[in-house]
Amino acid sequence: MERAQRSLDVLQRYFGFDSFKPDQEAIVSDLFNKKDVLAVMPTGGGKSLCYQLPALMMDGTAIVISPLISLMKDQVDALKANGIAASFFNSSQSTEVQNDILRNFHHQRIKLLYVAPESLNTLLSHFKESSISLFAIDEAHCISAWGHDFRPAYVQLGQLKERFPQVPVAALTATADKATQDDIVHQLHIPNASKHLASFDRRNLYLEVRPGTKRIQQIFRFLEERKGQSGIIYCLSRKSTEDIADKLQSRGYKAQAYHAGFESDERSRIQDDFVNDKTPIVVATIAFGMGIDKSNVRWVIHYNLPKNLESYYQEIGRSGRDGLPADTLLFYSYADVVRLRQFAEDSSNEDIQLAKLERMQQYAEALSCRRIALLNYFGENKAEDCGNCDICKTPPQFFDGTILTQKVCSAIYRLGQKEPIGMVIDVLRGAKNVQVQDKGYHHIKTYGVAEDIGYIDLQQYIIQMINQGLIEMRFHEKGRLVLTPIAHQVLFEHRKVKLASLQLKKKKDKQTSISKSEDSELFEKLRKLRKEIAIEEDVPAYIIFNDASLKDMERRLPITEADFSSISGVGENKKRKYGQRFLAIIQKHIDDQEEKATDQRSTYQVTYDLLKQGLTIDEVAERRSLKDETIYGHLIRLHQEGRPVDLSEHITQAEVQTVIKAKESVQPEDEKLRPIFDHLDGKYPYWKIKMGLYMGS
Ligand code: ADP
Ligand code: MG
Repeated sequence: MERAQRSLDVLQRYFGFDSFKPDQEAIVSDLFNKKDVLAVMPTGGGKSLCYQLPALMMDGTAIVISPLISLMKDQVDALKANGIAASFFNSSQSTEVQNDILRNFHHQRIKLLYVAPESLNTLLSHFKESSISLFAIDEAHCISAWGHDFRPAYVQLGQLKERFPQVPVAALTATADKATQDDIVHQLHIPNASKHLASFDRRNLYLEVRPGTKRIQQIFRFLEERKGQSGIIYCLSRKSTEDIADKLQSRGYKAQAYHAGFESDERSRIQDDFVNDKTPIVVATIAFGMGIDKSNVRWVIHYNLPKNLESYYQEIGRSGRDGLPADTLLFYSYADVVRLRQFAEDSSNEDIQLAKLERMQQYAEALSCRRIALLNYFGENKAEDCGNCDICKTPPQFFDGTILTQKVCSAIYRLGQKEPIGMVIDVLRGAKNVQVQDKGYHHIKTYGVAEDIGYIDLQQYIIQMINQGLIEMRFHEKGRLVLTPIAHQVLFEHRKVKLASLQLKKKKDKQTSISKSEDSELFEKLRKLRKEIAIEEDVPAYIIFNDASLKDMERRLPITEADFSSISGVGENKKRKYGQRFLAIIQKHIDDQEEKATDQRSTYQVTYDLLKQGLTIDEVAERRSLKDETIYGHLIRLHQEGRPVDLSEHITQAEVQTVIKAKESVQPEDEKLRPIFDHLDGKYPYWKIKMGLYMGS
């Protein structure tokens, strides 16, 4: 078989996927041809498969260097679930277990061996060039001091290529700028590595930014539409993680705080519970998430502004790894900017940090497609609107904001350019608070000239003016607002200003507020079964099947084993192990649906058939354990449907007239029957009244 066909075959048989993700095939092919590789692919891009697949196709054992023990275990569990011989080797294991693994390794019984970098030295003497298929270095940026997560233990990996020049090396990472890429290649001694730089575009992530006001209420509303879904809320401080987790708990959500102040045991327990869907929501400082491969995180909220776009993108990237739609929401507040600026100013490389923060801010304030801004920041030139961010969904409408800007600038001027944004807004809105009164600001000319605009809206408009370079916020001087030369042009030289309307946006937000598809009944049943199996096998649920696989089942309703094979993520091993159980649930669901449908269709039909067999109304009622009343109702319905039933057997023409007259004289509101019943002194049962009304209409 041709190699390309063979790799597709292995992809289907072991992993249950029909096609490769971008760049996977080329990387697989390079490794198969013993070429070194540097792969930079976004989180969720499918890096693992790039070395797992060739490992299966090549002779010998693939050695995978992976930095975190928890991650290693997950990957090995996932491989085993697909029927692949995999093990891991690290310092947490007993000598006995380690010896066992070595024995299996020497007998060539392991296709993939995961190793912590710290444990590599112990193993090196066991390696022979001929028995190793490839080396894969996951999270390869850890080798570079340029990267953001340098690990000394990675440095020794450079010797691999020296000692085993024939064995291909694959370096994989999700974060490496140009300098880091060069450094990785250099440190690993793979100067001729072929580079695969995949797009960082994660189209399935919805990008949204909202003003950071009443955040808790906004979060409650957000969660209301996402019951049972898993997500992460990122905060700046430990205290707010605990506060928010408390609030969520008291609302009945299973939420847990997470920060570096917890003991390490406690931290890993929290991580495990999150991964296993026991605690679907974690409220964390940025310490959380590194090394979690959970595929079904459906949303990420930034309670506070992240300090740069790298962190932001990495954090939102933890959602939607399974490729299904995920929602990300960033709360933007000026208070956060002020706080982050202080951090930045206290750091050793102040200029860089401040510049990065500024880019973060620009992103949050963007008035055009956010994804374009994001990808361009990472050096990917995109020009087409993405259609999956808040701006694309509700593009801003501009209005002539010259007069409003003049009012604001004039207030700033009259306040001697001494006051911060909050006071400027108070004065413009004519606030009657002590601070305003004390300073005598209620006497100035612009006091109250913008009282028709809400506080938050006015704040947003002023931020727009700051962004347009009309006003400057002096962070170093308690955030006082100062006019720029452009503001003078607006005040005195007829310069016009366009502002993005907030009213319109709000209205639209409400209409389009991200429609959440309720998870279906079947999806819930499939999830339940998955959970059951996960508990039996003591692995995280997504190792059994990820959400994408369950969604595929829900959509395609497989009923035979062959159908089941075609579901994304179902390879031979999983088909054999779980096929029957999932098919049974799906079959039962289909049967139930059909039964429900027939039930509704046939209740009249059943009555009709029995009557045709010659049964009386009483007999039919008894046979069907229904009331007479109901059967008469069926008669009327059957007559309506045009069936040959004779109603005059049950009611005379005179009775019909009596009912009609009764109705005319009481004129019941809302077509109520009770007044007619009373008017006829209870002599006519309800069914007869109904029938009379039907026949007389
Ligand atoms: P990364 O390490 O790049 O973050 P992973 O290797 O963890 O990504 O893969 C992310 C998800 O994509 C996993 O759920 C994996 O099963 C899935 N995946 C990988 N390759 C494919 C493919 N060819 N088709 C469909 N899903 C895939
Ligand atoms: Mg990975």
